[in-house]
Amino acid sequence: MMNLIDAPWTAEQIETLNRLQRGELYGHPYTCPHRGEVPHHDNGHDTGCLLATKDGWVCPDCGYTQDWAHASSLEAMSLADMMRLLSRRQEGACP
Ligand SMILES: [Zn+2]
Repeated sequence: MMNLIDAPWTAEQIETLNRLQRGELYGHPYTCPHRGEVPHHDNGHDTGCLLATKDGWVCPDCGYTQDWAHASSLEAMSLADMMRLLSRRQEGACP
């Protein structure tokens, strides 16, 4: 079963989701469904990343909006955050 969080979102939820969008947390960012049809900018992490706001996702490039996210995104990320800290000593092995 898939749990969803509907907008409006709290400041804490917005911050967590935007950290995911910036690639600061482990997981796939939420991207605009129209990014393949019209030009969308790359935020340094992926192309067509949506922005989390109080009222839900907003695409800065085409105005697409989406008022839900997966609840698991919030849970998985804090866990991944911890794993990221634990695996920090492995950094430096990148190509
Ligand atoms: Zn878009």
